[in-house]
Amino acid sequence: MEEKTEKKARKNIPLAGQIFIALVLAVIAGMLLQGHSDIAVSYIRPFGTIFLNLVKFIVVPIVLFSIMSGVISMSDIKKVGAIGGTSILYYMLTTAFATTIGLFFANIFKGHYPVLSTSGLSYDKPEPVSLMDTIVNIFPSNFITPMSESNMLQVIVMALLIGFAIILVGEKAQPVIKHINIWNDIFMKTMDMILRLSPIGVFCLLCPVVAENGAKIIGSLGLVLLTAYICYFVHAILVYSSTVRILGGLSPLKFFKGMLPAILFAFSSASSVGTLPLNLECTEKLGASKEVATFVLPLGATINMDGTAIYQGVCAIFIASCYGIQLTFPQMVTIVLTATLASIGTAGVPGAGMVMLAMVLESVGLPVEGIALVAGVDRIFDMGRTTLNITGDASCALIVSHLQEKRSARKAKAKEAV
Ligand code: ASP
Repeated sequence: MEEKTEKKARKNIPLAGQIFIALVLAVIAGMLLQGHSDIAVSYIRPFGTIFLNLVKFIVVPIVLFSIMSGVISMSDIKKVGAIGGTSILYYMLTTAFATTIGLFFANIFKGHYPVLSTSGLSYDKPEPVSLMDTIVNIFPSNFITPMSESNMLQVIVMALLIGFAIILVGEKAQPVIKHINIWNDIFMKTMDMILRLSPIGVFCLLCPVVAENGAKIIGSLGLVLLTAYICYFVHAILVYSSTVRILGGLSPLKFFKGMLPAILFAFSSASSVGTLPLNLECTEKLGASKEVATFVLPLGATINMDGTAIYQGVCAIFIASCYGIQLTFPQMVTIVLTATLASIGTAGVPGAGMVMLAMVLESVGLPVEGIALVAGVDRIFDMGRTTLNITGDASCALIVSHLQEKRSARKAKAKEAV
């Protein structure tokens, strides 16, 4: 009897609460394990990796089937185009704004940044990817590779193309439509099962990070990290609160509260793509339509990175100051443009933003080796930037959904009047 009550009580704690408890426990356990981080890394992290692998495993079928099913239910190619266009515009504008905020605050604080020695720094420069390469890489050349490599943009393109074809084939495709919808439900259920493990996943992912980095947080990069986190907060409060209220008709408080499970998960996992299933669940609960969320969120998880853009702006200023270089205004504008474009090419996985930082530094002639100055605490930057990245995706899904609803209502009214 007592056992039953206990089980019930655990069931009553909402997922956000369970994840939060896991997060607090992970911080405590991580602190206790400082100095013995190898235990956390060898015996706790693997369970986090198992969980993240399960999430990654389900993310491709979820994106593929939910976009196909969404496109088919809209049965209007133009409507899909309008949703995609509005989302991309929102994503680009907010990312450019995010970089500007990053540059603004970093310039305010830069006088207090430590000047770290730059002699003997080395960083393995990644192969440069041009803008044209990024565009070419959006399109799949093979049916299987996008899925086996979890290349989200290519999976999105595949899903859209097949979805459009099904609409165009019409009546004859009815049996396929039925199957796609059934498979979509099956994958959603699988995702649901995996997500129930998120508190355990969060604990096992975060505990080793705290055990390894705990002391470094207070280290010499504390102020640079603080600048980035101030910017993450300012951007969320300033941009998402206002756009969600004005364009999405939703109270910001309700928005952030509803997003809590996804926010906590993104913070612990540092992966936008990994947070995708939970983000879908949160935004739908907040009122986003399924057809919009399933299209806009995977797109955002791959091309929208406001947190990453802020991080790149802050780090560019910090690295420049360590090299004694004063960036000019045109150089800052170049950073805004490159960071916005770089975010399209940044994969939603841990550490990807640091690789793209090389492109931003190169665009203004800063030494790429400077990345070595911030690489040691990248994970701590990453947890915050990923949280902001997925919150931005969610705000877009809710806004586009709301605008879409309004448009449909207007159309229906006009039809009535005729
Ligand atoms: N980890 C980030 C994300 O998944 C990308 C980055 O490294 O900036 O959104």
